[in-house]
Amino acid sequence: MLPHLLRNAIAEAVLRKRVRKDKIYLTFDDGPDPVHTPRILDTLKQSGIKATFFVVGEAADKHKDILRRIHNEGHSIGSHSQTHMHAWKTLPWTSYGDIRKGMASLAEHGVESKLWRPPYGKASLQTLIYSLRENKDLAYWTGDPQDYDPSNSASSLQNWLNEHATPGSVILLHDGRRTQEGGKNVTPDALEAYFNQTDIPSRSFAAL
Ligand SMILES: [Zn+2]
Repeated sequence: MLPHLLRNAIAEAVLRKRVRKDKIYLTFDDGPDPVHTPRILDTLKQSGIKATFFVVGEAADKHKDILRRIHNEGHSIGSHSQTHMHAWKTLPWTSYGDIRKGMASLAEHGVESKLWRPPYGKASLQTLIYSLRENKDLAYWTGDPQDYDPSNSASSLQNWLNEHATPGSVILLHDGRRTQEGGKNVTPDALEAYFNQTDIPSRSFAAL
């Protein structure tokens, strides 16, 4: 396990390098998903917004067309490992291999990326070694509305975004199935409602 302070220092270094103080960064983990990702892409396209997707390798292997769409529509893509292993509950070399495989799988689909985010945000010594050895940027977040929590509805998530998606923030959201029970995901609805509000276009968004 990586001490919290060290993890935070690394995370901050990467965010400082990539994050502008006048932009809002929406990030989507755990996809591509055949239902949720296209809906989110539609909303982003209609609003002219670029965002960042941290994709799971095995989902990208299954839904190459959606990965291609994310790429073609100008969003940033980062890796979120191959099978979403929890670094603290897996043997170190196993999780290391899974992280490497996730990035290799993106490359196989023609997506070269320097960005990655560990599953569950769990950092370990392997996380650090991987980032340093392979020169990859470990990308955390500054705001987490917990869209995977079943007590969250689309409107509570929309309200959270109104209040907390402020310039300079990196927001953790999910487009995958690893969300609420039964594959339910309130994020596409919340995002659509959020961007349909009249005052949102004055906010400025960017991809990592
Ligand atoms: Zn995840």
